Amino acid sequence: MRLLLLAAPGGGKGTQGERLASHFGVRHISSGDVLRAAAGDGSPAGREVTAYQRRGDLVPDQTVLNLLLPVVAAAAAHGGYILDGFPRTLPQAITAAEIGVQLDLTLNATIYLHVPEPVLVQRLLARARPDDTPDVIRHRLQVFTDTTSPLIEYYRNRGILVEVNADQPPESITNEIIASLPAS
Ligand code: ADP
Repeated sequence: MRLLLLAAPGGGKGTQGERLASHFGVRHISSGDVLRAAAGDGSPAGREVTAYQRRGDLVPDQTVLNLLLPVVAAAAAHGGYILDGFPRTLPQAITAAEIGVQLDLTLNATIYLHVPEPVLVQRLLARARPDDTPDVIRHRLQVFTDTTSPLIEYYRNRGILVEVNADQPPESITNEIIASLPAS
């Protein structure tokens, strides 16, 4: 199973990523976690990643691709993945799709978790990560609208978008996702 989770910050990608990974017996890959782990290694590149994350800016595409693609390829070799937070820009999506074609790996679906903005803000304020302050949250939501939300249309045009109401209890969302997946 190869799934991609698309959602605004606070949309529940991490929670659903874990639940779906355990349901399908595949790896859950959170781009935010992979980047935070790289950021913690004390290197200059790591410090640069930390600075982007703290501001709520996207980490540059090339850095993200360098860090994420090997992790995705390794998971693909072990039965698949639930990808959460990557790709997050059109160039990332296009590069990932090109590599997918070369490796003969297609996505089963992209799940868009839709949550009303006031609910997103409430969830993020309750979380208390260093990038969950009101100003940075506002900025991250804007970055989602400007840079990531065009991916919704991109995957819809490719015929693999599944949109789910994610303002529900986690278990209902997981069930709805599983029921909406195309038969493979
Ligand atoms: P959230 O989705 O709640 O913002 P994440 O842990 O997915 O939380 O992401 C946190 C931060 O990590 C983002 O604000 C951004 O700085 C960085 N990040 C995560 N994924 C990507 C990506 N694919 N491209 C660029 N930056 C990313």
